[in-house]
Amino acid sequence: MNKRREKAIVAALLRFEKSLRSRKTDFLLKRGSEEHKLITDIEKHPHAFVIGCVLDRVIKAEKAWAAPYKLKRRIGGFSFPKLRRLTRKGWKKHLGPQKNDPEKIHRYWETVMPDCLFSAIKVIDKYSNNRGKAQYMWAGDNLRGKDVVDRFKEIRGVGDKIANMAVRILVTRFEQPIETASIDISVDRHIARVVRRLGLIGKNTPKSQEKKVIVDKARELYPKFPAFIDLPIFIIGRDYCHKTNPNCGGCPMSTLCDHALHKRKPAPKTKAKRKRMKK
Ligand code: SF4
Repeated sequence: MNKRREKAIVAALLRFEKSLRSRKTDFLLKRGSEEHKLITDIEKHPHAFVIGCVLDRVIKAEKAWAAPYKLKRRIGGFSFPKLRRLTRKGWKKHLGPQKNDPEKIHRYWETVMPDCLFSAIKVIDKYSNNRGKAQYMWAGDNLRGKDVVDRFKEIRGVGDKIANMAVRILVTRFEQPIETASIDISVDRHIARVVRRLGLIGKNTPKSQEKKVIVDKARELYPKFPAFIDLPIFIIGRDYCHKTNPNCGGCPMSTLCDHALHKRKPAPKTKAKRKRMKK
């Protein structure tokens, strides 16, 4: 793909990202709802955001962002000292089905998730000298975005994808002054599908190398903040670019996308077909 088209794609993604900010939802939750208030309370409950990030695997993102509020109701509060007192068993009890509420807060409530949340509390305490202030995870002079990503990755169960996403949100949604050039795109199946269909990476890129190739491509396309194009691509993948029958007509990338452009072109008639038609 030529550079001019790549630039046009980036510009379209940035425009789409801007349009997302005026949506009625934030964190995929209704603005002003109790769930939304807790996950966005970065001043008094920054640990709620960290816990939401840890829960954001194998379940829908909106369910993960709403989970801290659900846990708050089950635990009877969400102050850090209260969470610090929870053992792994305690987390398991609150994550699983309750007598009066059969909903499991996470698919892995019985297995790894209690450990992951227990570990999150330990890491928050580590970086705030046992003061329970999660904001110290992303505070500090000369701290690079990558350093914050690495701190998130110290939490059990948090890998590149969630850690980069968490730091990207801290910058874009919470306006935390974190260096951005070293924060990478978080590659998941939605992102990989859209990037491939747009033509930003080769169709024949082997699956085993796909993640690295996409990370490198995002660094090349938007070097000052590679993770910034993550959200618009993710939303396009989730809302328009379905695995089968992508809704190219409604997609903001339709005039620039390889896949959509090829779909529109009539298939070239072969000699054999022309002969058959003449008969
Ligand atoms: S135009 Fe179609 S194929 Fe291309 S990214 Fe949008 S939905 Fe996907």
